[in-house]
Formats: sequence, C-alpha cells, structure tokens
Amino acid sequence: MEINLSFDIAATIMITILLISWVMRKMTGGTTNRMFLRFVFINLIAVLFDIWAATLDNVGSQSITALYFAHSGFLIVYNFVTLMYVLFVVSLTDTWHKIKKNFFILFVLGAPFLTVLAALVTNPLTKKMFLVSGGYRHGEWFPLIYAQIAVYIVFVIAYMIYYRELMELARFCAAVAYIPIGVIAWLIQMAAPENHVQMFGSAVSMVLVSIAAQKPEEIVDSDTQFMKYRAYAADMKRNYYNKKNVDVVMLNLGNFSVINALMGYDFAMQILGDTVKRIRQVNMISGGRADLYYLDRGRFRMVFHEKDRALAEEAAESLVASLMEKRDFNDLDITLQPFVVLARCPEEIKDFKMLMTFGMDFHEKVKFEARVMHVNEVFHKGLFEIQGNIDEIIEEALEFKRFQVYYQPIYSIEKKKFISAEALLRLFDPTYGFISPEILVTAAERSGAIHRIGDYVLEEVCRFITEGEFHSLGLEYIEVNLSVTQCMRVNLADKILGIMAKHRVPTECINLEITETAASHTQEVMAENLQKLNRAGISLSLDDYGTGYSNIKRVIQLPLKIVKLDKTFVDEQDNPKMRVVLKNTVAMLKDMDMEIVVEGIETQEMLDFFAELQCDFIQGYFFSKPVPKPEFVSFIKSYT
Ligand code: C2E
Ligand code: MG
Ligand code: MG
Repeated sequence: MEINLSFDIAATIMITILLISWVMRKMTGGTTNRMFLRFVFINLIAVLFDIWAATLDNVGSQSITALYFAHSGFLIVYNFVTLMYVLFVVSLTDTWHKIKKNFFILFVLGAPFLTVLAALVTNPLTKKMFLVSGGYRHGEWFPLIYAQIAVYIVFVIAYMIYYRELMELARFCAAVAYIPIGVIAWLIQMAAPENHVQMFGSAVSMVLVSIAAQKPEEIVDSDTQFMKYRAYAADMKRNYYNKKNVDVVMLNLGNFSVINALMGYDFAMQILGDTVKRIRQVNMISGGRADLYYLDRGRFRMVFHEKDRALAEEAAESLVASLMEKRDFNDLDITLQPFVVLARCPEEIKDFKMLMTFGMDFHEKVKFEARVMHVNEVFHKGLFEIQGNIDEIIEEALEFKRFQVYYQPIYSIEKKKFISAEALLRLFDPTYGFISPEILVTAAERSGAIHRIGDYVLEEVCRFITEGEFHSLGLEYIEVNLSVTQCMRVNLADKILGIMAKHRVPTECINLEITETAASHTQEVMAENLQKLNRAGISLSLDDYGTGYSNIKRVIQLPLKIVKLDKTFVDEQDNPKMRVVLKNTVAMLKDMDMEIVVEGIETQEMLDFFAELQCDFIQGYFFSKPVPKPEFVSFIKSYT
C-alpha cells in the first residue's frame, strides 16, 4: 500500500505558516498564547515523524531500527499532542491551579497518557502496540490509544461545559471544533488508510482556533502593544470566578482626554508612548511579572498574580515616581495627572463588576495627589457598592415598581401662584436607601435603562395631569427632565407623543427640560426630535443654564421657551460681578423672548433679588423640596 503524503505535507505547510504568523504578530506572551504555541509546535514535530515513517514504509525500508524510531516517534509525540490539547483547553479557563490540587483529575489526565507512553516505549520488546517487520501493522494493544482519546474527549467536553462562563463563545466553539474534526479525520483514515489525513485535520482545527479564538487584533492594542480592555475584562472575570487573588495597579491619566482634545491625536500618542515606556521599565525592575493592559483613554493596568503580590506596592510607587518626573514633549512642559490606585482583589473590590465600575472613573472622584492611593480612600464604601450594583438596582426597581416621581412646585411671580412643578425621579432601595437621581440617570444612560425609566416618569406625570384635580389646583403644566441619551433616541418624539395621546394629555400640559450640555452637543436626531415635539405643541426648557458648555449658536437654534438658571448662579448672587452677569443674562434672555425659571431659591432674600430682576418663575426649597404627589397636592391647596 502506497501512502499518500499530500495531506501531511499540506499540514506541515499550514502549521509552519501558523507558527510564523504568530511570532510575527508578537502573539507569544500570555499563558494561553504560550500554551497554544507549544501545542502547534508539537503538532509540527508529529507531522514530521509521520512523514518520515510513511516515507520509510513507502520505500519498503528494511531498517527495523529506523522503522521503530519513526513510528514510535510519531505515536509518542501524538500522545503528547492529545495531552497538550487538554492542557490548552484548561489554560483557556485558567484553572490549572485547581487541577493541580485535584488528585482525581490528575489521575484521569495522567493515567491514560502514562499507560500509552509506557506501552509505546516498551513496544520494541512487547510488539503489542505495532509491528514493523513485513510492513507496519497495529498490534493488539493499539486500541489503548483510542481509549485514551475517548477519555480526553469526554473530559474536555465536560470541562468546557462546566467552565463555559469563563470562555467567550468563539473560543468555546473553536476549541470544541477540534474534537469533531479530529474524529472525522480518524474515521477517514481508518476507512482509507493510504490517506494520512489525521494530522491535516489537526492543522485545520488549529487554524480555526487561531482565527476564531486568538485574534491578536482583539487582544493586543496596536498603539501600546499592551493587552486590550477586552482581554483585561476576560482575565479579571476569570480571576474572580476562579477565586484567584490579584493586585491591580490602576493608572488613569486624569487629563489625558483633555490633552487629546486640545493637542490632537499625534501628541496624545507621544504621551501614551512615553507612559508605556515607563510602565515597562517599572515592570522590568520588578522582574517583568505583571500582565500589562491598556484599556482606553489613558487608562492602564498592571496585574500582579498571587505569588507576585508583594511586588505590586513597590511597582505602584515606582510608577508614580516615574510619571511625576518632568517630561518634555515638543518643548511643551506637560503636567500629567497620573492617578494611581492599588487595588487588592477580591479583598478590597469584591466582585468583577465593581472592579470595572471603579476603574472607569475613580480619577474623577478624588483630588489629584502624586502618591499611591488605596481603594477605600477613593470611594465612600456605600456609594461604591451602589455604583458596583447599580445595574441590578435599576433593573429590580423597574421590575418591582420601586421608582417614584416627586414634584417640586414652581411659582409664577407675575401670577403670584404656583402654576407648575418639576417631576423628579426618586428611588428608595430596600438595601441602599435613597439613591440620587444623578447616579441613577448616569448609570441608566449607560445601560440603556434610561428609556424605560423615562417612559415611566412620563406615564406617571400623565396620570397626574388627567386625574382631575390638576387643573382645579391652578396648575398649567409639568416639567419633565430628558437626559442626553433620551434626546438621541431615534423615535423619542413619537414615543412621548404616543404616551401623551394614550392618556389624552394636551401637549401644552408638558414641558420638557434638556440640559445645556445636551443642547450644545446637538445631534441631528436630537434636533429633529425636539423640533417635532415643539411643532406638536410641547414647550422646551433649557435646564441648568450657566453650568454646561455653552454653545450659543446651537442653543439659539433650538425651539426653547424657558431657560432655567442654575443654582450655582443663585448661590453666588452676593458677588457684585455675578450680579452684573445675572442682570445682563436675564436682560439678554428676555430680549430673546425667553421665560426664566430660577432654580435653587432657598431664602426670601434670594427670591426678592430675582423678582426684582424680572425673572418669571421661582423653584426651590424656599417654597418646597420635591415631595410625593399627595403632599404636593396638599401643599398647593394650602396656598390657594
Ligand atoms: P435638575 O433637573 O436640575 O433638578 C433640580 C435639582 O435641584 C433637583 O435635584 C432638586 O431637588 C434640586 N433642588 C431644587 N431646589 C433646590 C434648592 O433650593 N436647594 C438645593 N440645594 N437643591 C434644590 P435632584 O432631584 O437630586 O435631581 C438631580 C438631577 O437629576 C436633576 O437636576 C436632573 O438632571 C436629574 N433627574 C431627576 N429626575 C430625572 C428624571 O426623571 N429624568 C432625567 N432624565 N433626569 C432626572
Ligand atoms: Mg431639571
Ligand atoms: Mg436644573
């Protein structure tokens, strides 16, 4: 029987290209990558042995020694290949430390491997695995190899199902694909033994793993050569799941985004490059033990594993020292704010989600100090826990109808009565108590829950308006807040008009508040939404005037009826310069035919001052805090 070597040759070429491409793409770091490379390499050796053995068979070699060497070589290396595959799967879940301690699993993995190895090594004496004299033939013990493979297949499938949460779907599929492809290749080879397709099958699966599971572009950031956010998230999730203790040195460059916006991409890249260099140096000094990540927008992470935790503190300190050195870029003396936090996980940050929430913006929560900070210093514990669990808190609040709408009265100076109110979101969580709407809204904007919350608030307000008492109380409309993301929802206008139509609420009974920042970032969708709502008769207010980025041009393009002067204006009305600003601001807005609401009025004195400036409406604790509907109704009644 002449053996067809084409498949083995094709496999050799494929595996070699795979190896070269991995080295060229610098995919040689990290446990999984190294494991995969070893696996590919050992496959290459197996193919070469297979080619050698088949060639000897084809030429009818009489050298028994050479035949034994070649065939034993192939089978022994192939025995390693199967074990390596199992270890590769284990490395995907990063659970080797657990296996090490589990005698049963060690036995399940080790016994078949050692049995087959022993049988192969002693084969020249026993001749039970295969025979070579008079042509290669399987011996009676050869099925041991099938048995070993069967045990490994069962193990791998069970293991992957057990740890499926630790693997991304693509990785999971690619790693599992190795099994059916391998089995098909074995079957073909058994049916047509002259075709050596088995190693070709292996090569195909490895290419699949390489393409689907190990895309370097997804793991390694091209600017920094550090691993990306995705890899960080996956690795840290695994660490928490596997209860591995790690120390994370978190570096957020506080003013990176500003520098990027002001100085441009190239300049920001220089800063990034310099920072990368310094992180590498620091890591080198501590023995190169940390895994390095670049998440985005000037956020870096060094992760020290269990056995290297002692190095983390020192590394964090060296990092601060290094980054605080004076640095010149293009002769510009740039002061960076390297916020460095050392987080011991899971002692200080108890779950994965919290870690990610914390890392996102801890630098915005504290004043900059050139030293290593600890988690507890940066975050008020309660708030921190709320932030870490905010998505669940919101989902539960929606599910169990925990959200409430409070009303804060708005007083008309001209009519000398309350003509309106602002609807404000409230949540009293059973575990965490009162949670500020600002935290809720920011988180809900990120998760997308803001739309459901927004719909809920509007429905509540509509119900209030149609309940009968509303008009008899002398109320004309209710102000409802819209966040930036809400304004950008494609069908926002239809949604709002739909809810109002359902409740038969006339459009003049609702006023929508958008913040100055939102208005300045006007996107086309938002402008269309607001125009459409306005055409339908809904009036719009500009909220928090004076605090956001004013883009006057954009602001005046929007169909705004009311401007709400922010509380910060009010708080400074003692300052003579502020008085000038206020006087002229009010005059300017009046000239533009805008109505003015002053927010945050707490004293009679403040009220008098703004009344004198001819502002139209007053809102603030002076009259009432935001209160639940029944109290609000009683309050208004007590005034009429
Ligand atoms: P905002 O729209 O500017 O609401 C005014 C905030 O000022 C309210 O805070 C109110 O309680 C507070 N306030 C009113 N008068 C006084 C005063 O005299 N003194 C002081 N110190 N504070 C006063 P609150 O309820 O905590 O809301 C904060 C922000 O959360 C709101 O600012 C608004 O941007 C957002 N928000 C609240 N409810 C909703 C909602 O239903 N949807 C959306 N998208 N955002 C909401
Ligand atoms: Mg408001
Ligand atoms: Mg406001």
